[in-house]
Amino acid sequence: MIEDTIFGKIIRREIPADIVYEDDVCLAFRDVTPQAPTHVLVIPKKPIPKLADATVEDKALLGHLLLTVKTVAEQLGISTDGYRVVINTGTNGGQTVFHLHLHLLGGRSLHWPPG
Ligand code: AMP
Repeated sequence: MIEDTIFGKIIRREIPADIVYEDDVCLAFRDVTPQAPTHVLVIPKKPIPKLADATVEDKALLGHLLLTVKTVAEQLGISTDGYRVVINTGTNGGQTVFHLHLHLLGGRSLHWPPG
């Protein structure tokens, strides 16, 4: 059984979040500890713990999440200047919430390589 997370509670509206986009498949909301002027998390409503747990059955879902990042970036006005999309996966990837999520970071120039 997949364990519930704080993101599951946000999907079910059991805790508040600053939601910027929603459709049948996914939800996007502002990160509570932003690392850039714009920092949004895009999550599937399906509780996949991490990218490493996704299967070929999730192919359309994963594509949908990426296209949603694109849509949200346009909506929030960071598309022209550019942005970064990050998926932290597992312990070494720095993942802390085990419900798959894409970080959308923008609004400033970002450094590379990441820490
Ligand atoms: P990660 O380290 O990739 O698992 O990212 C988890 C992200 O979730 C972090 O950037 C946190 O700041 C963010 N976060 C944790 N709790 C909440 C919350 N209740 N609302 C919005 N963002 C959250």
